[in-house]
Amino acid sequence: MSSTEIKKIGVLTSGGDGPGMNAGIRSVVRSALSEGLEVAGIIRGYQGLIDDDVIPMNHRSVANIINRGGTILKTARSEEFKTDEGQKKALATLKKHNIDALVVIGGDGSYRGARDLLQKYNFPVVALPGTIDNDLCGTDQTIGCHTAVHTALEAIDKIRDTVHSMERIFVIEVMGNHSGYIAMEVAVGSGAEELLVPERPFDYEKICAKIKKGHESGKISWMIVTAEGAAKAPEVAEAIGTRTGFETRFVVLGHIQRGGVPLAPDRILATRLGAAAVDLLVKGESGKAVGVVKRQINVVPLTVACEKQNSLLEEYYRLIEVLT
Ligand code: ATP
Repeated sequence: MSSTEIKKIGVLTSGGDGPGMNAGIRSVVRSALSEGLEVAGIIRGYQGLIDDDVIPMNHRSVANIINRGGTILKTARSEEFKTDEGQKKALATLKKHNIDALVVIGGDGSYRGARDLLQKYNFPVVALPGTIDNDLCGTDQTIGCHTAVHTALEAIDKIRDTVHSMERIFVIEVMGNHSGYIAMEVAVGSGAEELLVPERPFDYEKICAKIKKGHESGKISWMIVTAEGAAKAPEVAEAIGTRTGFETRFVVLGHIQRGGVPLAPDRILATRLGAAAVDLLVKGESGKAVGVVKRQINVVPLTVACEKQNSLLEEYYRLIEVLT
């Protein structure tokens, strides 16, 4: 589709919500309006396309949201959209509302949905990385990852106070089903002694041997950060408590990591990427994912961006080892 044919774009957020998505929506809407395009907001991601839940958006629809967490367009995980039938319904909604192109803000699953729209139905789409997991190809950062790490870190700082005062082992579970990004960042940032991530196998015997050795040399407290996809906190606490005989507590940080006021890097990233997405569509380019690499806008084919990026850095393990 050439640029002249695009008159109206749709925007949706999909998958897990993340702080900064609103800044992205605002940027897409206002950039498109400034290009003379109409904008439609799709409520609850791909499910909203299936259910024909579409609203017109104007300059005012996105007023005062740049600093708000969550997403004003709501988000969802839609199993139906993974089916041909669901995708055909979604396409019918796009046609019904005369939407010529779509901006999708979401994680790797949302990218795969966008890729389907492009590859199977030749529908113009551009995707933006909206996930706290920072696990997408073609970008150094994803919208929401900074705030999520900061939120988890603040919570762990509070836990550290009691860990140290009560002389305990504490297992802290953070989000990350397939990605150890948040766990990695907060383990190093909080000065934790152990890090468990889905990308790397671990051995309870080795961890417990370290804890016992540390105890013999006078170490009185221990913080273990686990990503939910590596091992659940209760399981880790049980395994370590049983093997060492030391009192071991756990805490699951859960959804607090998704919420809150987006930090500056997430807002700024979302704002830049939203504008870049509209820019691409106006130039007649689609089937792309937009990110940043070395602070510069980076555009990659959606097919490439769908591959998950392993963000695990061995350097982090060395740091934890040396600084414990
Ligand atoms: P997060 O990183 O926060 O989990 P995500 O975008 O990866 O975000 P998913 O639930 O995996 O979250 O995907 C969001 C939606 O994208 C799904 O509910 C589904 O509608 C669509 N989707 C996911 N995988 C596919 C796929 N393989 N084909 C088509 N659509 C998909």
